[in-house]
Amino acid sequence: MKKRKLKKEKKRVRRVFDKWMEPLGLLWWTILVDYNEGREDFQNEDNTEIVCNVQMRWEYLEALITVNVGCTAQLSDAELERSLVHELVHILIAEMQGEPGEVKHQERVVTLLTKAFFWVRVADQLEEK
Ligand SMILES: [Zn+2]
Repeated sequence: MKKRKLKKEKKRVRRVFDKWMEPLGLLWWTILVDYNEGREDFQNEDNTEIVCNVQMRWEYLEALITVNVGCTAQLSDAELERSLVHELVHILIAEMQGEPGEVKHQERVVTLLTKAFFWVRVADQLEEK
């Protein structure tokens, strides 16, 4: 990815985090954001690319989000926002994480909560009009 495009993509990602961190109550956390452009080790078991990954030390309220900008650059603004908010919701429920391999329940809860946050936000905007 060219330097200019990379800079633009990082800015687009940052904008979503800036929009959602406070409403989700994540300003208490130390959250670092790292970017990669599609490393080979950044793939799911079925060889599809991982868009985003979060590593947490929830007991210390610390998280590292790694964003695959090679992937996000291909998402629309709405898709990018949904995808990044999904990762932030993972942070919210981090301490409920089960054993490795038990991810389906957690993914469902995260997906549902992500949708709920968007619905609340839309409802708020409609009320303001
Ligand atoms: Zn997830």
